[in-house]
Amino acid sequence: MKHELVKSILNRDKLALSRAISTVENRLAGYGEMLDILYPHGGRAYRIGITGPPGAGKSTLVDQITSRILNLGKKVGIIAVDPTSPFSGGALLGDRVRMGGLAGREGVFIRSMATRGSLGGLAVATKDVSVLLDAFGMDYIMMETIGVGQIELDIADACDTTVVVLVPESGDSIQAMKAGLMEIADVIAVNKADRQGATQLSQELQFTFQLRKRQSDWCYPILLTEAVSGRGADELWQAICSHRDYLERSGDFEVHRRRQIKSRVKELLEARIRSHLEKELHLDDLLDGKADKVFKREMSPSQAADEIFKHIREYGA
Ligand code: GDP
Repeated sequence: MKHELVKSILNRDKLALSRAISTVENRLAGYGEMLDILYPHGGRAYRIGITGPPGAGKSTLVDQITSRILNLGKKVGIIAVDPTSPFSGGALLGDRVRMGGLAGREGVFIRSMATRGSLGGLAVATKDVSVLLDAFGMDYIMMETIGVGQIELDIADACDTTVVVLVPESGDSIQAMKAGLMEIADVIAVNKADRQGATQLSQELQFTFQLRKRQSDWCYPILLTEAVSGRGADELWQAICSHRDYLERSGDFEVHRRRQIKSRVKELLEARIRSHLEKELHLDDLLDGKADKVFKREMSPSQAADEIFKHIREYGA
């Protein structure tokens, strides 16, 4: 059955893609094997992350960028990640905004993802879904996230270019810096430029980025946009393309992708080791036994860890 699904995805059947995404999202039987088979068919899609506070205009900007990609005759897959929503795969606001516009167009595929279980799980599922979109033959994958926490940082790590969207409303710039968004931004859009304070925010951000600009050959463009009217959207799309050129010319593109792959494999390996320790070596029981001794001050925590590690090395192979 999974092989039928794989074949249909490679034949660019959107319905099959939807089903495959649900399979991955819900961790249904065979999802891992399906990803393994499809993985070699990917690698061509360019991945763009769009993140920022709720209501900043991310969805509207994603629509603007998408229509520019479609005008080039390219295909785009959009993953709208909403860690705050209790729904999964349903119609989030982002989808509803797009319903009248891009959703039905050939060459676009939109999917919303929301929390099922842990936030870490959401980031992993998002990366898995991007493998499906890549194998499907998308030229671009856009991952839209609400910039508030670790999950955005994880997802940005899986993107090639990350756009941070901010708005002139008070406090956004400070909050964004706190959330570490500035660390991951390659391009910054100051959206709602029709509102007061946009120019001032962009000047503040210029100042914030001075240090990073000095340390890199990339110029960290800070652009004023008005997503609703489309003003500044051409410049934003150009900035994303320039960043891609920069990455490819400097060799950073390959360096980034190799680093991402290494950290993904490490993540998966750690999960396997943890599960092996817990299930095969009954780590919890070992910990309980040693914790008792530490509690009675018969050994220190470090000695307890040493003894457990010795046991793992002797019996764990
Ligand atoms: P998201 O939550 O970041 O995805 O934000 P949305 O794209 O859903 O936009 C939130 C609201 O802001 C919507 O009502 C948009 O119409 C509005 N909006 C988006 N961009 C602009 C803009 O440049 N200027 C103004 N005034 N409103 C905007």
